[in-house]
Amino acid sequence: MIFPFTAIVDQEEMKLGLILNVIDPSIGGLLIMGEKGTAKSTTVRALADLLPEIEVIKGCRFNCDPNGFLCIECLEKKKNGEPLEVEKKKMKVIELPLGVTEDRVVGTIDIEYAISYGKRHFEPGLLAQANRNFLYIDEVNLLEDHIVDLLLDSAAMGVNRVEREGISFFHPAKFILVGSMNPEEGELRPQFLDRFGLCVEVRALIDKNLRKEILKRKIEFDSYPEKFLEKWKSEQEKLREKIIKAKEFLPRVEIPEEIYETVVTLTSQLSLDGHRGDIVILKAAKAYAAFEQREVVKKEDIKKVAFFSLRHRLKRAPFEEPESEVKKLYELLSTL
Ligand SMILES: [Zn+2]
Repeated sequence: MIFPFTAIVDQEEMKLGLILNVIDPSIGGLLIMGEKGTAKSTTVRALADLLPEIEVIKGCRFNCDPNGFLCIECLEKKKNGEPLEVEKKKMKVIELPLGVTEDRVVGTIDIEYAISYGKRHFEPGLLAQANRNFLYIDEVNLLEDHIVDLLLDSAAMGVNRVEREGISFFHPAKFILVGSMNPEEGELRPQFLDRFGLCVEVRALIDKNLRKEILKRKIEFDSYPEKFLEKWKSEQEKLREKIIKAKEFLPRVEIPEEIYETVVTLTSQLSLDGHRGDIVILKAAKAYAAFEQREVVKKEDIKKVAFFSLRHRLKRAPFEEPESEVKKLYELLSTL
């Protein structure tokens, strides 16, 4: 049984970071940094219960989007004039464990099968399951380099292409990447770090009342899980509805000209690489406005999301405090 998302005490930034990615998956995922025991993986796993349904091609092993890029199997069906029906499937959180093999990630082409039966046989990997879902990696900083490269490639292309002895296979592989890590155990490669849309830092709560509440809920959940889930059911339902509404509402949200101005004023004063940060702030602010059922993005939305959109893109060891660029960002935000 999974601990309910809404019963997780505080950690608002982490929760919001995940929710905004459900509302707009193109934000590009979330990196959660923090010491052990700060509910990082509990929160990510808890998200599964709140995820909405998406439209997929019926029977497709890769969750092909009826309006998007199709896998080789759906393309062949289409070519043969077979109908591509649509069904609804709930989004999932797929976990990628450390020590995973390349084959397990990308899937395998069965050469023996091809020789014996003259037909292609593909065993899907985690990237297949992850298509249009969340892909979660705990201790992401400890992931082997060659696996990181596979993920970066597929994230850049949105496709997983496998080739073996002249037989090739491909399917869409667009996923929302969520990683969690304890920065004391090693850093992430900058190229990988930049791939995460948002980045939050979580700390153990100091407030005694909050700590007491965490303890109470944990004990209650462990002792009577069914009763606990029942108790939180309506809160879960409320939040799930709110997220679905926000997703529907998102295309209607407008970004006024002055908001573009606000964003570039902010980012042009910081040491950032490229424009990804600017794009992420705007998308996150828009998703936040949709979450609040508001049709126009406001400066407050930019303030709300700027820190977790930029924190990991600031140059010069951004996770060591006190750090001048982080301070500068705080100051700039207060003058917006
Ligand atoms: Zn397909």
